[in-house]
Amino acid sequence: MSWKKAVVTRFHSNMVTAMDIDSGERFECMLRGKFKQQKIRPIVGDYIEYSSDNDNLKVENILPQKNRLYRPNIANVDQVVLVTTLKDPEVDLLIVDKFLIQAEKEKLDVLIIVNKVDLLNTDEEKFKLEKFINTYSEMYDVITTSKFSMENINLIKDNLKNKISTMAGMSGVGKSSLLNIINKDLSLKTGEISDKLKRGKHTTTFTELLYLDFGGFIADTPGFANLELLGFDTNSLKDFFPEFDVLSAYCAFSNCAHINEPDCEIKRCVDSGEISKSRYNNYLHIYSEISKRRDKKW
Ligand code: GDP
Repeated sequence: MSWKKAVVTRFHSNMVTAMDIDSGERFECMLRGKFKQQKIRPIVGDYIEYSSDNDNLKVENILPQKNRLYRPNIANVDQVVLVTTLKDPEVDLLIVDKFLIQAEKEKLDVLIIVNKVDLLNTDEEKFKLEKFINTYSEMYDVITTSKFSMENINLIKDNLKNKISTMAGMSGVGKSSLLNIINKDLSLKTGEISDKLKRGKHTTTFTELLYLDFGGFIADTPGFANLELLGFDTNSLKDFFPEFDVLSAYCAFSNCAHINEPDCEIKRCVDSGEISKSRYNNYLHIYSEISKRRDKKW
């Protein structure tokens, strides 16, 4: 009996929900006992081989993973989609940069979606958007959108097509609304933004891979208010700021941390405006956070 290939979209204790790669059929599938004995469990995003003996579906094999994220717990991720807003809520750029360095560390492709641009109407707000786009589009794909204007929705679909993506972003930025627009079948709950805090309520609680009807999968993952920066050290932090990469070759010291060293090309570029001041300040902030954590440990 030949085995067929599927992708795991949801995990339960001794079975998975999966989707057949060829037919698109969705089904529940039992894990064979051998996995339990070996303490191996497939996770969301895993490609599996399964056998079907009448209605008896069994996971036979878990295929090697291309990569694996731990928070959220998901395998074979092609790209991470960061949804952010500049108003209601005004997302802190430090949180954005902390997210981006984690994606850099995992070597993941990044797509940034700036949502709710309908709310940016004053000159100051428009300037802020322009500055955001100038800063981040140097390194990542940045797409602006709004559920009212529906701008760039097809572009977003093109970017998600036939990939496994995870979507992250603070509560209230409009992740569920966006997913409902690009794929009406998903019918996700959208939370009304809390007036008091101007922060949305949590509406997403567990990791599940959602099938996109134009091809591809997306995991809507809970917000990331408390990023812990696991596995970072002060020496390598600079490697996760791509705009430092080539320019740092011109620093006087080859191991320049771009902080107090003389003849630092990165500091010169920040002064001249070639490197974003906000990104550099966030680098310093994260550097000091990591140093403090290290000092505490000793
Ligand atoms: P999530 O927590 O990230 O999933 O955010 P939701 O999709 O639940 O949206 C939070 C709130 O923002 C809801 O009241 C939405 O109606 C609202 N919202 C979503 N997208 C937009 C948008 O493009 N423009 C505006 N003005 N409001 C939006």
